[in-house]
Amino acid sequence: MAGHHRAPVRRWTVSTPRGLPPGRRAASVRTRGLSRPRRALYLLALALGLGLGGCQDEPPRTPHVLFITLDSVRADRLGSYGYQQRDCTPVLDALATESVLFEQSFAASSFTPPSHASLFTGLYPSEHGLTYWNRKLADVPTAAELFAAAGYRTLAISPLKTLFLVGLERGFEQTFELPFVQEQGRMLLGDAEAINATILPELTAPGERPFFAWLHYYDAHRVYGRQGEQWARRYTDARVPLAVGDSEDYYQLGPEPRPGKAMSQADLNPAQARFISDRYDGGLAYLDQQLGKLFDALEAAGVLDDTLIVITADHGEVLSEHAEQWFSHDPHLVDENIRVPLLLRLPPSAGGAEHAGRRVASLASGVDLLPTLLSLAGVDAGSSRPSGIDLAPLVRGAGGARREVVFAERQAKDRRGEDGVSDDEALRLRDMSRMLRTVTHKLVHHVDRGTFALYDVNDERTDLFGSRPEQAAALVARYQAELARLSTLQSADSGLDDEALAQLAELGYLSKAPDGQ
Ligand SMILES: [Zn+2]
Repeated sequence: MAGHHRAPVRRWTVSTPRGLPPGRRAASVRTRGLSRPRRALYLLALALGLGLGGCQDEPPRTPHVLFITLDSVRADRLGSYGYQQRDCTPVLDALATESVLFEQSFAASSFTPPSHASLFTGLYPSEHGLTYWNRKLADVPTAAELFAAAGYRTLAISPLKTLFLVGLERGFEQTFELPFVQEQGRMLLGDAEAINATILPELTAPGERPFFAWLHYYDAHRVYGRQGEQWARRYTDARVPLAVGDSEDYYQLGPEPRPGKAMSQADLNPAQARFISDRYDGGLAYLDQQLGKLFDALEAAGVLDDTLIVITADHGEVLSEHAEQWFSHDPHLVDENIRVPLLLRLPPSAGGAEHAGRRVASLASGVDLLPTLLSLAGVDAGSSRPSGIDLAPLVRGAGGARREVVFAERQAKDRRGEDGVSDDEALRLRDMSRMLRTVTHKLVHHVDRGTFALYDVNDERTDLFGSRPEQAAALVARYQAELARLSTLQSADSGLDDEALAQLAELGYLSKAPDGQ
């Protein structure tokens, strides 16, 4: 791995969220009811020759699976995806040379909870039901449940502890939560250094079972470059006033002033906008450095060679390319928000080096990860019926099914039935949109407005829907066919129980529209 810089000096003061005892800083861990030993199952799996398999005369090894999601990381800021302005990601780019890289991979949503749920269920948001913070993952098999059933030790860590209230904790024996960090009145989520410090002892401890571990890193998310001056100013000069970019007020900026927002795009000059974008790269560089520390520690412990590594993101980030909303992700299904990195590094101990450096040009979707991982690790799919396809043949360079389209969808909170909210108003607030994308074009359906738009993917500012009627009609037909297929699956629309709703409200996720997670 590439060389690393010294860790930045932390300047944060740590406070405790309400309800926790003072001084509690370390991550908290929850152990769930799946922790009974599964050694027998594991040994059975070994005996049956499951797993990636090695040479003929070696016993087959069952790989560890390290599933890493990088919140808000758009593909085109990685050197391995063509970013040329600067080298923010030497560690990820080195990893890419050891991995299979999907050049055209798309998240199933532009919003954190539904996109993660799609990664872990192989289903689209309308199918798995976790469309917003007040909804809950439907009773469908999750990756953690399937790997647990195959004898894996399952563990997850996220600084966004609310994800463990809405169903994404299902199947994980242990979930590790990081305390919020408060700085100058802002609540910040735990950083990569804290994640590594908490999870590495777990991943490097000797154990009889392989692990399936989900690590959710939040360091590229707003507020960009919040890891301290070393990172915030890594790629910027000092002529722009320090205050720009330090506050949430500088994000989610629209063309016009909006209620509750102190600023609009017109209030920022180009140098300031550039400054904020440069800070995004600073946060990304910090994250990259910390991933290097994670991989180095796993290598030193002798774990890395036996580990299948997945690197992807739940969504990307608009960095002032689109006037509707600057410096944000949700709610727009533009490529900056949904085109994400996807690296799959197969374990060297199972012949992974043979596939190192392969680049796959075919379209891929977040819903493809579950069937692909089950296939690569030799884990039984159980009752799972993913909408995604198995990319394992493409990973191995053996051809196989190729996607012609990718599909994505997002919505805000659905408030139909609430007191004082008319159905029309509720739909306007929900603002559901769906997208169907080919290699060259994108159809966007604003469901609650009843409008379509058609874009060349190289220009998502010019709507071609009216001027290309035949192409539009063909894509609409394709879109409707895709929807019809989804509707044959369950459209789970289950709400949270009162306790979970109360916890989310206390953490601020339901009292206002958290349109930035
Ligand atoms: Zn996110």
